[in-house]
Amino acid sequence: KFPIIYCITPTYWRYVQKAELTRISQTLKLVPNVHWIVIEDALEKSNLVRNLIAESKLIATHLVAQTAPFEKLKDKNPKARRHRGVEQRNAALKWLRDNLTLGKDKGVVYFMDDDNTYSIKLFDEIAKVKKVGVWPVGLVGGLNAEIPIVHSETGKVTGYKSGWLPNRPFAIDMAGFAINLDLILTKKEANFSYEMAKGLQESEFLGYFTTKEDLEALADLCTKVYVWHTRTETPKIFGTVPGLEV
Ligand code: UDP
Ligand code: MN
Repeated sequence: KFPIIYCITPTYWRYVQKAELTRISQTLKLVPNVHWIVIEDALEKSNLVRNLIAESKLIATHLVAQTAPFEKLKDKNPKARRHRGVEQRNAALKWLRDNLTLGKDKGVVYFMDDDNTYSIKLFDEIAKVKKVGVWPVGLVGGLNAEIPIVHSETGKVTGYKSGWLPNRPFAIDMAGFAINLDLILTKKEANFSYEMAKGLQESEFLGYFTTKEDLEALADLCTKVYVWHTRTETPKIFGTVPGLEV
């Protein structure tokens, strides 16, 4: 049977927020068994996100966790090179560990950023994860796709095609892996941190759970792209219609 997929989505206010969350919540409506965990990078929950979650009728948990001001202030440009999603993903991990029980609750955990593009086929792959599953991610790291390199006979991951530090223990984008809930609940010390270099979050996090040799190569032995690291252009807004939520 289809396992519960816990989809962890950090999100923050900007003009495209509602559009992004609409797109991904409606993708999730097409998945059989989902628990959506939405964590706002804010001091308080917003009505926009609260209402959007309620209207989606998805099984969902709404949390807040604010990014440390020293990370935010590094640059006025919201796309500047700084850590994104650290506190929010950790808040979701804490929620899972505080609210679910090892042995009783079963499922798979996936980090689902609000701006990527997800095929519903991806979720059939996530559903197969026994420990840690991996697959290609399109449009990332300066390549048309980053992929785990899979040995055609053994089906084992032998390395990575990645535009950036392919020799990392796990050269995989946040969108390119999912982890069994049992492992998340067992390895309680596994979290993200500002101490990890920005581009090493995934690799260091995965290191808590598995080894390259143990990865499960999904999406037809990593030959199919079912998720794209799209980034939405920031619209130039020069006026706002009063009283309208957009
Ligand atoms: N995010 C956030 N606060 C921020 C910036 C980003 O919560 O200040 C969220 C964002 O909504 C997304 C995730 O963190 O779900 C990753 O951010 P982004 O997509 O900007 O990173 P990129 O994919 O460009 O590395
Ligand atoms: Mn992104």
